[in-house]
Amino acid sequence: MRIVVLAGGIGGARFLRGLKSAVPDADITVIGNTGDDIHLFGLKVCPDLDTVMYTLGGGINEEQGWGRTDESFTVKEELAAYGVGPEWFGLGDRDFATHIVRTQMISAGYPLSAVTEALCDRWQPGVRLLPMSDDRVETHVAVTLDGERRVVHFQEYWVRLRASVDAEAVVPVGAEQAKPAPGVLEAIAAADVILFPPSNPVVSVGTILAVPGIREAVAAAPAPVVGLSPIVGGAPVRGMADKVLAAVGVDATAAAVALHYGGDLLDGWLVDTADADAVAEVEAAGIACRAVPLMMTDVEATAAMARAALDLAGAGR
Ligand code: GDP
Ligand code: CA
Repeated sequence: MRIVVLAGGIGGARFLRGLKSAVPDADITVIGNTGDDIHLFGLKVCPDLDTVMYTLGGGINEEQGWGRTDESFTVKEELAAYGVGPEWFGLGDRDFATHIVRTQMISAGYPLSAVTEALCDRWQPGVRLLPMSDDRVETHVAVTLDGERRVVHFQEYWVRLRASVDAEAVVPVGAEQAKPAPGVLEAIAAADVILFPPSNPVVSVGTILAVPGIREAVAAAPAPVVGLSPIVGGAPVRGMADKVLAAVGVDATAAAVALHYGGDLLDGWLVDTADADAVAEVEAAGIACRAVPLMMTDVEATAAMARAALDLAGAGR
């Protein structure tokens, strides 16, 4: 079975671990969000790709959900001693090595997709991890700070400001000119099932779909498309997805996110049992919907979610 998953960072990575456990023999292609990418200290950092790679490769800091396990921060402290920031983005020593290798390869002319493949040679994530695009896309957020309208990098909004002010607009800068990375459209067209994990619908899955050709390929794919709600009981399970949903005029409810993706994209949608009353509304939009437990408390609970998504996909379009 060929499965394609459009994934952000933590939510996507944890779901993938459950999916691999549920269907160990499946051929899984992950299309990763690169709109979160940021250049720091002259290095190219790809937080979502790395979160997927480290999580599936056994190198993730489990409690945090991002960054390396058994990490130290000597380089960061030394940079701070020079007064060189930003200090709000936590790059550990082990993690730095990944970004140095990536930046070195990119400087040598390799596209991000080839670099990601080379990094995965070490981590063996057990999936084919493709960036959504080899071209630079950077999500920016418009905010008002101290009465002044400003545009900040998504990471500055998310990590430094902790989404404490409203997101007035979310713009994936460069997306319109970006091309899908090699293999992306082919994987979508050849998939037996396409899944949207509980990832951020705006700044993760939404950014991937903003690369011209990807949304169209998903909508046109012969495979059923099934998503899992990242919103449970009217709030994001973790993080501040409600802030970026508000920026695109979508309520933070399981039903509203399904309708935001829409019936032209989704064949099926899973909501948590806490949101069972959303099922009728989603089905009225022509999207098959079931309520099942959607908390990724451990790998077994997550594997059950993955099985429910595959069952719904098999239940037909
Ligand atoms: P990010 O890059 O770290 O934001 O990771 P994602 O893009 O994958 O988004 C994380 C999203 O997944 C957030 O909107 C969370 O609300 C959601 N999420 C996190 N943990 C869970 C969980 O256990 N169950 C469900 N249903 N959603 C979750
Ligand atoms: Ca992310």
